[in-house]
Amino acid sequence: MSLPNIVRVMKMWSNGSIHKSNKKIDSMNAALHYAGPAAWEGIRSYLQQNGSTKIFKLEEHIRRLFDSAKIINIKIPFSYNDVIQACSSLVETNGGGDLYIRPIVYARNDASEMYKNGAEVNLDIYTFPMPILSKRDVKVIISNFSRSYPTYQMQAKVAVNYSTVYELKQEAQRAGVDDVLVTDQHGFVVEASLANIFLVKGDVILTPPNNGSILPGVTRATLIQDILLNAPLMYSKYKKSPIVVEKNITKADIYTADCIMLVGTYYEILNVLEVDGRVIGNGVENSYYKILWEEYHNLIRGR
Ligand code: PMP
Repeated sequence: MSLPNIVRVMKMWSNGSIHKSNKKIDSMNAALHYAGPAAWEGIRSYLQQNGSTKIFKLEEHIRRLFDSAKIINIKIPFSYNDVIQACSSLVETNGGGDLYIRPIVYARNDASEMYKNGAEVNLDIYTFPMPILSKRDVKVIISNFSRSYPTYQMQAKVAVNYSTVYELKQEAQRAGVDDVLVTDQHGFVVEASLANIFLVKGDVILTPPNNGSILPGVTRATLIQDILLNAPLMYSKYKKSPIVVEKNITKADIYTADCIMLVGTYYEILNVLEVDGRVIGNGVENSYYKILWEEYHNLIRGR
């Protein structure tokens, strides 16, 4: 999929108005040089069972955009309600349906001016069509790179955190797998390149804590709050009573899990078949994977 061409086909929202996407930024732009003054979101809209379009968890994503901007100390020159409204209008203008929505806040000024004047920021929002992912089962390796952010940075969705993604994706490609898991500075496994992780051991669902080394994912929260801890749903429909535990995940936890899932807005829910050449569980989809996949798809499609 050639992203830039697809992005250009649709209209964009930029600093308060919707128009044809023809944006160009100067290569002296501060966000390009320092990566710091740029925060963004990845959101999806879905065609609903009743034929309408709904932007999934829009409020949660825009709240995280404002949180990310606050963490790196840039001020979004629009209100929370303005940004919600802007995303909704843009999706409607572009015809609705299954779209990816990318708001980005970034420095307007030159790198040479940033320290003198602070970052003045633009807010742009792009959308492009999002095909249904056909793949559910993936193979991964544990990356040789470790995330060395000990404090708060990974809790913000900011450009600087993605500087290693290019290398991570190349590492996966060289190893002939679909994605990589990354570790923190203590060697605990914290995330995939662009997704949070869940492990299943019996009826215990493990996920790394939001301690500064993960992005607190909207999908992660949805799966925990709307599905796993929704006791009436889990018990009456599936006769299951899962326990969700936030715990530092070791490599041994990974290799011995019954099931591992990669979860995120873009990935939705992927099932990990193999890590570092070890088959996970008994190599077939675990019942919790099937339940989460089914219930998540019911939620996004308004069923
Ligand atoms: N971790 C990272 C590093 C990510 O880029 C993403 C994708 N935004 C996630 C986790 C999953 O977050 P979400 O469920 O909000 O998309």
